[in-house]
Amino acid sequence: MLTTSPREPEQASSRQVIPAGDYYLGVLQAGEVARILDLEGNQAADTLFYCADNPLERYSATDTIREQGNIYLTTGSRLRSNENRVMLEIVADTCGRHDTLGGACASESNTVRYDLEKRCMHACRDSWMLAVSEHPEYGIGKRDITHNINFFMNVPVTRDGGLTFEDGISAPGKYVEMKAYMDTIVLISNCPQLNNPCNGYNPTPVEVLIWD
Ligand SMILES: [Zn+2]
Repeated sequence: MLTTSPREPEQASSRQVIPAGDYYLGVLQAGEVARILDLEGNQAADTLFYCADNPLERYSATDTIREQGNIYLTTGSRLRSNENRVMLEIVADTCGRHDTLGGACASESNTVRYDLEKRCMHACRDSWMLAVSEHPEYGIGKRDITHNINFFMNVPVTRDGGLTFEDGISAPGKYVEMKAYMDTIVLISNCPQLNNPCNGYNPTPVEVLIWD
């Protein structure tokens, strides 16, 4: 469902632009709202969430999909943990659909999806691994890198249940906003993918804005 936000960027307590191929790692306190802004359109923000008090509790696609009875995320979607607790709720969305099935790009999957020579290309999994190794204070390691949300990515499911990676439905200036229900570690890889039609073969920056 398309919904705009009443929050003004000028009132945000923090703003950070993430270039394509880079990561964002920070804690969203309970009650705070985070916006991911697709600056130039058709970008994919591959995102993981962890409970800040216990990172073993993390975003769960299966719990989220089962409880809302829908595979797409948009306004009103409650993002649940592997303990079936609500971590965040999407409170505004001007894109309309976000993927929770397609997973993140990795050098291994790139060779399967695209070509053997793509193995050396930078992938979201690399950005996450770099983030957790540069910030051991968050208590997240390689084993915690699990299934993720692809904000702005368009992965419709066919009538036969097949997954398709389609042209993006986002555009410059579209955004998604979520309110934290618990202190939540936010780990975003701004996808560097050059082979995927979801981002028009052109990775671009996104911005993260936070309101207290
Ligand atoms: Zn990626």
